Amino acid sequence: MTNQDKHVAELTRDHSDHQQLLDQDTLISVKNVKKYFPVKGGILKRTVGHIKAVDDVSFDIKEGETLGVVGESGSGKSTLGRVILRLLEPTDGRILFEGADIAHIGNRKMREHRKNMQIVFQDPLASLNPKMSVGELIEEPLLVQTSATKAERKQKSIELLEKVGLRASDRTKYPHEFSGGQRQRISIARALALNPKFVICDEPVSALDVSIQAQVLNLMKDLQDEFGLTYLFIAHDLGVVKHISDRVAVMYLGRIAEIAPKDEIYKNPKHPYTQALLTSIPVVDTGEDTIQREKVKISGELPSPADPPSGCTFRTRCPFVHDRCAAERPELKETENGHYVACHLYT
Ligand code: ADP
Ligand code: MG
Repeated sequence: MTNQDKHVAELTRDHSDHQQLLDQDTLISVKNVKKYFPVKGGILKRTVGHIKAVDDVSFDIKEGETLGVVGESGSGKSTLGRVILRLLEPTDGRILFEGADIAHIGNRKMREHRKNMQIVFQDPLASLNPKMSVGELIEEPLLVQTSATKAERKQKSIELLEKVGLRASDRTKYPHEFSGGQRQRISIARALALNPKFVICDEPVSALDVSIQAQVLNLMKDLQDEFGLTYLFIAHDLGVVKHISDRVAVMYLGRIAEIAPKDEIYKNPKHPYTQALLTSIPVVDTGEDTIQREKVKISGELPSPADPPSGCTFRTRCPFVHDRCAAERPELKETENGHYVACHLYT
C-alpha cells in the first residue's frame, strides 16, 4: 500500500466512523411520511377524495434534542405526532426509531417500542380518566407494561409526583381537585412512568394561563435534562417553542415549509409563512430579542387539505407569489448549514 493509498483509506475510514456516529446520534427518523384521511361522499359512502393531513414529511431528531413543530391549527401537527407513535397508521413513509422501522410493524412488536415513546396532550382533563386517582393514573402504565410490585409502583409514583412539583399526598386525590397546570404535571408524571426516551408534547401548555405556561415549560426542560429525554414539541405559535427547542420545523398544510436551528428560525426566517408567524408574536423587549423585522402579513384562511392549491400550497396567501409558485411545488432545500426552506424565492 502506498502512502497515498493509506491516506485515502484513512480518510474513508474516518468518514465511515463519522457517519456511524451521526447515525447513532439519531433517535428518530421520519422519512416521507404521509397520512391521508379518506373523504366519503354520496349515498354509497364511496371515497371521493383525501384530506392530506400530513403530506411527505421528513426529519431526524437526535438523542436529547428538542424539535419544535409549529403551524396554525389544521396544519397537521397532531396527526404527525400520532402517526409517529402509531396511534394512527401512516398512509406511506418510514419511521425509524433507534434504527428500527416501526411504520408498519405489528402491535406486539410496537408494544416494546411504545414504552420508550410517550405523548403529553393539550388537554389533561380529557386525557386523564376522572375516575382514577392520581396514584392510579401514574401507576397504570407500570401495572400494564411492567412486572413492578404494588410497593414499587407506589414508590415510583411518589418519586414522579415529587419530580413534577407535586406532593406524595396528592396520590389519593382525583384530577378535578387540581388546577390546569397541576393536571398537566400529572400527565407529565404519567408519561414518564416507564422511563421513555422520546416524548411528543402536543401543545402541552396551550390550554394553560400564560402565567402558568412558563412554569410548565421550565419543568419540561428540567425533566429533559435530568432524564436525557428527546422531545418533539408541538405548538401553534413560535413564541412557545422558542426557549425549549434546539431546532424548529414550520408546518403548513401537512408539509414542512422551513426547518432550521432555533437561532436561525428566529433571526433569519426565510419562508414568507415563517416570517408572517414571527410578525404575529408580540415583541418583548429583552435586549437580545428585539430584532427589526419587516412585517409580513398574510390574509385569508388556511385552504382545505382536501383540495390544496397546486404548486406551492402557501401561494394563495403569500405576499411574494409569482408565476412559478402555481406551476411547481418547491422542494425543501438546504440554503445554509442545516437551514432548509421550501420556497421558490430561494431557488
Ligand atoms: P393541527 O394539530 O395542526 O391543528 P391536525 O393534525 O389536527 O392539525 O389536522 C390536520 C388536518 O387533518 C385537519 O384538516 C383536520 O381536520 C384533519 N383531520 C385530523 N384528524 C382527522 C380524522 N380522524 N379524519 C379526518 N380528518 C382529520
Ligand atoms: Mg393539534
